[in-house]
Amino acid sequence: MIVVMKRSATEEQLQHLVEHVEALGLKANVLRGTERTVVAAIGDERVNGVRSLESAPGVDNVMPVLAPYKLASREAHEETSVVRAGSLELGGKSIGVIAGPCSVESEEQIVATAKAVKAAGATALRGGAFKPRTSPYSFQGMKEEGLKLLAKAREETGLAIVTEVVSPEDVPLVSEYADVLQIGARNMQNYRLLEACGKANAAVLLKRGPSATVDELLLAAEYILDGGNGRVILCERGIRTFESHVRFTLPLTTVPYLQQKTHLPVVVDPSHGTGHTNLVPAMARAGIAAGADGLIVEVHPDPENAKSDGYQTLSCDAFEAMMGQCRRIADAMDRTL
Ligand code: PEP
Ligand code: MN
Repeated sequence: MIVVMKRSATEEQLQHLVEHVEALGLKANVLRGTERTVVAAIGDERVNGVRSLESAPGVDNVMPVLAPYKLASREAHEETSVVRAGSLELGGKSIGVIAGPCSVESEEQIVATAKAVKAAGATALRGGAFKPRTSPYSFQGMKEEGLKLLAKAREETGLAIVTEVVSPEDVPLVSEYADVLQIGARNMQNYRLLEACGKANAAVLLKRGPSATVDELLLAAEYILDGGNGRVILCERGIRTFESHVRFTLPLTTVPYLQQKTHLPVVVDPSHGTGHTNLVPAMARAGIAAGADGLIVEVHPDPENAKSDGYQTLSCDAFEAMMGQCRRIADAMDRTL
């Protein structure tokens, strides 16, 4: 960390700062320039209280050098982590594709979707049983009944199950059925939920909050990693902007940026990231071209009659066609799909 002193800082203020830096367990190196004096604080600056140094007398500015997250950082772990959960593998050469309906609605619906997406090359099945809906009047999900239907679909197809958990109390129940616990965008900063998933045995798919920065996403992942769960997958699912032609804006720069900053695999959600069925295939292709390790896509046998998110859901046939296009992009990226 670099502490820049004010031009007007006195020798006494500088000494006070040096003592404070050393009290935090860091080594203070004073560098006297012609214009300003700066103090390079050497050591792990991620200790409590460091940022408050900006309030010390004579201090102009405090500039951290290390990323605020440790365990998620590529500095700590150079190789990309490969996360495995049943049939799903993310972070290796092959691109993982998680596909299925927004919500589990019936046995017939989830099993038919699972079979169709598997035949088209998906490596995991998604489906919400506990749904975090914007309106209390919208379909809230089948809850445990839905989890049982997901388990049935896994039995029939062998596909790993990715399903959302919305509260810390539900983590043990959802973990009984899920291979991957999804933490939804609305819950990215639900710290008690992150802690509970940090103690779970299942892998975790952490979605970016629509108004969260990428650093906040990485700090949210840090909670799960710090709890002892190393199987964390990050998901870019679009952010809130002034644009109205899409439901959310899908910023694909997140993918290469995250890959520079973290070893965790990165997945793109072109369904929530656009909010329109007709925009999904192009953004899925673009996600792979940007280097994503995987996709999560909403697919339903009858999108027009889906109980949630039908307007951004692909039919099974459209999903198959999209997979064919994505395979060609994956090939160009030296990945398999
Ligand atoms: C979902 O995956 O159906 C979902 C609710 O996603 P998000 O949390 O990204 O809105
Ligand atoms: Mn959805």
